[in-house]
Amino acid sequence: MNPLSDLDNALLWKYFEDICRIPRLSRNEGQVIDYLLAFAHEHKLKAKKDNTGNVLISKPASPGMENRKTVILQSHMDMVGEKEQGRPHDFSKDPIIPVVDGEWIRASGTTLGADDGIGIAAQMLILSDRDLVHGPIECLFTVDEESGMTGAQNLEAGFMTGEILINLDSEDEGELFIGCAGGIDTIGTFKCKTKKPEDGSIAYKMSVGGVKGGHSGDEIHKSPGNAIKIVNRFLWNAGNDFRLALSMFDGGNLRNAIPREAFALFTIPAALVEDFEDYYQKFTNALLLELKDFEPELSFRLSRSELPETILTRKRQVRLIRALYACPHGVITWSPTLKDLVETSTNLASVKFTKPNRAIVTTSQRSSVDTAKKNIGDRVASCLALGGARVEHSDGYPGWSPNPDSEILNITTGVYAGLFGQEPVVRAIHAGLECGLILEKYPGLDMLSFGPTIKGAHTPSERINIHTTEKFWKLLLEVLGRIPEKW
Ligand SMILES: [Zn+2]
Repeated sequence: MNPLSDLDNALLWKYFEDICRIPRLSRNEGQVIDYLLAFAHEHKLKAKKDNTGNVLISKPASPGMENRKTVILQSHMDMVGEKEQGRPHDFSKDPIIPVVDGEWIRASGTTLGADDGIGIAAQMLILSDRDLVHGPIECLFTVDEESGMTGAQNLEAGFMTGEILINLDSEDEGELFIGCAGGIDTIGTFKCKTKKPEDGSIAYKMSVGGVKGGHSGDEIHKSPGNAIKIVNRFLWNAGNDFRLALSMFDGGNLRNAIPREAFALFTIPAALVEDFEDYYQKFTNALLLELKDFEPELSFRLSRSELPETILTRKRQVRLIRALYACPHGVITWSPTLKDLVETSTNLASVKFTKPNRAIVTTSQRSSVDTAKKNIGDRVASCLALGGARVEHSDGYPGWSPNPDSEILNITTGVYAGLFGQEPVVRAIHAGLECGLILEKYPGLDMLSFGPTIKGAHTPSERINIHTTEKFWKLLLEVLGRIPEKW
């Protein structure tokens, strides 16, 4: 039984179903690579595979269209494998069976892999249908987008010849994407010389929780709140007034997540306890008031604790706390050309005390402008270095700077308005896409990304909307028919 065969454009869905049957988790794309190469062979199309596993299949222009610019259509072969608890599905061998559910197509308790199986299906239909009108086409299928973008990263210059690239890996129909952010991590290691706590001190643990947090790309603009920053602000102030001696500071977790929780362990001279607790109340109340509209769930907790074995020397403590205070967090600049796009941001992601006597501060920067990404990375590095840290950067990955004057964007916008009587939304995202990496190897490419609406990607509730898939297909075909002639 073919549950999708009653839909319009049955052949597109047939290819989609075929792809769903092939196990293809990231870094295990062997079967889908073989399937694509066999498909090319069957349809007498030129195909090649690079050392990383990326596949390129080419199709000549339809009659009369030979003079048009070559278009690269791009998708990724791998998918995320997530399932509901208790599902026996084995992603290394079991097929995914898509089912129609009202307006949507979904799997049964697992990810569907419409991200990016629908892109692959669209490419296959374009490659196999001899009645379509278009110029020369190159279909690029990358490996390992989901777990590290190593396919796009290892793409070799000269593998493709096209001048225009349409990425088919977006998930909001009606939106055209023209940019993404690059990223880099900046990590500071502080030496924490320690000593024994002074006689007659009392220890406390102070924690902050309930900060919104979220993804450091998509959600960095939603609140200035950062649990590490809030704890540190308290330490900085109380450190000056109460001879607070820091023993431990811990906050945040993943480099791409905004810290929701943090805590510090410290001592106070016993004689100051009453004043200190009073100060703590006033200080936290003022902060709750200041942040109430940004962070309605923000909470503080102060509890007495066992006296720690060691505290930081005064000099090391002051350096660490000052460096964290100076270190920026959040939106640095908004795009001057695209509304509501964060251009550059930085996330103060985590502070971890590790033995022997080290504090590691991890931060992560993003920008759609590569020089701006380097600039904010250097600014953060400066703050940490001024505090005495040894600073390292990760290799990072490049962004894709939006070009509102792009030719393929202008064509697609016009086609969209003509077909659907409505202007598409033109956007960029403040997170990574393969386009940034591809552009690094092919700096002259004119690129655009669009796709049908997919909800719940990377979760067992992943589903693709049928109606928007039809719109996506119409748009893609019409755009291919309007590609201009070569210079
Ligand atoms: Zn994807």
